[in-house]
Amino acid sequence: MSTQKQSKETICVQGGWHPGKGEPRVLPIYQSTTFKYETSEQMARLFDLEESGYFYSRLQNPTNDAVAAKIAELEGGAAAMLTSSGQAATFFTIFNICSAGDHVVSSSAIYGGTFNLLAVTMKKMGIESTFVNQDASEEEIAAAIRPNTKLLFAETISNPGVMVLDIEKFARVAHSNGIPLIIDNTFATPINCRPIEWGADIVTHSTTKYMDGHASSVGGAIVDSGNFDWNAHADKFPGLTQPDPSYHGITYTETFGKGAFITKAVVQLMRDLGAIQSPQNAFLINLGLESMHLRMKQHCNNAQKIAEYLQNRQEVAWIHYPGLKNDTYYNLAQKYLPNGSCGVLSFGLKGGREVAIKFMDNLKLAAIVTHVADARTSVLHPASHTHRQLTDEQLIAAGVAPDLIRFSVGIENADDIIADIKQALEA
Ligand SMILES: *Cc1c(COP(=O)(O)O)cnc(C)c1O
Repeated sequence: MSTQKQSKETICVQGGWHPGKGEPRVLPIYQSTTFKYETSEQMARLFDLEESGYFYSRLQNPTNDAVAAKIAELEGGAAAMLTSSGQAATFFTIFNICSAGDHVVSSSAIYGGTFNLLAVTMKKMGIESTFVNQDASEEEIAAAIRPNTKLLFAETISNPGVMVLDIEKFARVAHSNGIPLIIDNTFATPINCRPIEWGADIVTHSTTKYMDGHASSVGGAIVDSGNFDWNAHADKFPGLTQPDPSYHGITYTETFGKGAFITKAVVQLMRDLGAIQSPQNAFLINLGLESMHLRMKQHCNNAQKIAEYLQNRQEVAWIHYPGLKNDTYYNLAQKYLPNGSCGVLSFGLKGGREVAIKFMDNLKLAAIVTHVADARTSVLHPASHTHRQLTDEQLIAAGVAPDLIRFSVGIENADDIIADIKQALEA
């Protein structure tokens, strides 16, 4: 591997897998649960974390590791791991540093599944969350932080409200309170934004979306920048800075340095909770990554055209797309996403919820699917679908108006998508 820093496009195509002489050019699928050793002693050293190596695919698998390495490189991180889903990535990230009695501060403008995870499931585990308006001042956001708060969480571009986060503002609040900033970068992808460059400490992904890009496999990833100094706040993060009795008293920050967070998540959480990505799916995600830089361009170009078209239709009551000059988040997008944001936009139609549902039913090219951010244009009504469990108050806090249509622009020809929208509006 060359040590010269490569551009994102090259990493998309060639990162992660660097075959030697006579090895497969294409990343192989190591479809094996287990790996062979010569002596019992060799294997024992792996179990004690005295040596690194493969022994069981619930912990590590070479296909997965190559894809994780590519994603780490794309995000500019120190280490990464794959998980079975984006939900597992979010859960592992939080649970790696929080336990019963701890507290999380999150933007309220987050994916519905993440909201449920924090507000309902993790609450049952004794981890409480406070949700803040991400557009509030630093002082207001900081006021939600308590002595037992362990992290600050938000999305680069919120799903489905397409609100753009002021990442530097969130990083300042987190760091002045001695906690890491965790950013879900699913919608922006590292092609359009690298949150670590703006101060994020850990980045999570639902690789199910643009990374896979073809709606073929559910998956997640966690990338650690390696930048957060856990030892400077050692009392807050005992799991990383104090000996782990389940590994003969190893201390992650001492033994693994910048790899501490990911190593702990793999050898503790993956070992015990087992939400591993299948190597077959990792292979498919890698195929998606190889063209992600090209697809993101087309998604963004198409979405911009469609946003401009919708903005000029009299049936449209409102539209959010950060690429529109009069959008609330245009300036933040210019700063953090200068090459484009994503293919997702949201809008409402005059006449509200019923008209929205009728419009969606009339679309032909754009399919109604519980998915977003893939090659095919798709559409969803979050209040009826992904965010169905939220109360009206929670919907508003999440940036989801009851009439919001989430339109995920694919990589087809923009004129065909516009023609479909036109016929559905006029039907
Ligand atoms: C889809 C999504 C998730 C959850 O990911 P899954 O792969 O569906 O588990 C998390 N965050 C965001 C922003 C998402 O869009």
